[in-house]
Amino acid sequence: MYRQRKELLWLLMILLGAALLFCGAASGRAEVTIVLDAGHGGEDRGITGTDGTTEKDVDLDLALRVQRLIDEKLGYRTVLTREKDERITLDDRAANANNNKGSLMVSLHLGGSLDPDLQGYGIYYFRSDGDDHVPEEKGELLLWRRQQAPYVEESSRLAEVLHQAFQNAYPSRRDLGVHALPLYLARSVQMPAVFIESAVLTNKDEEAYLKSETNRQKVAETIFEGLRRYLQTAAGADEEVKQ
Ligand SMILES: [Zn+2]
Repeated sequence: MYRQRKELLWLLMILLGAALLFCGAASGRAEVTIVLDAGHGGEDRGITGTDGTTEKDVDLDLALRVQRLIDEKLGYRTVLTREKDERITLDDRAANANNNKGSLMVSLHLGGSLDPDLQGYGIYYFRSDGDDHVPEEKGELLLWRRQQAPYVEESSRLAEVLHQAFQNAYPSRRDLGVHALPLYLARSVQMPAVFIESAVLTNKDEEAYLKSETNRQKVAETIFEGLRRYLQTAAGADEEVKQ
């Protein structure tokens, strides 16, 4: 009797193990985590348009729209570095992205310029400005600020794919291009990371454009489309994603 029970127990354990393995294989999608970083927040308003639109509000609205699209159409896990109007330090945003083991991070911002005529969209990724070698910095801090180094190439590819999505969606808008900059936040994250400036808020026409929910949804769909394409071709993408 005892022996039979033991065998039954073993059988149950084997079945449970097989079930877990099967679930693990079937849930390849769940292993992708997209970090959406809405810029600014709280007393940090970011850029303010001449008609009073604040960048922090548009950034969060876009992040939530992109999150909804990912939820509905891809089912990947998403992490928002802020979900409401609050100030969060750049180091806390980076720590959140890293602790959640993000597969990639997209920071949402808007451009600003002293030239009121400047408009368009631009995509940015990290390049070192060399000051991550400041000798008086403590070792840990130095390491923290070098996290992006192994991901720069993939960040550049992510930026290019997103840029293509904007070009496809907005053939007549001004294209401010893809640029590598010494972005403070990006250098501390252990994943491909890009900053998207979807429009220049100091330009009256672009501010008016962003006031419309329909237009903000189109921007979100453009970003979503870029992410979808990037993930389709990402190294190690599973079969389900490639379809
Ligand atoms: Zn910004």
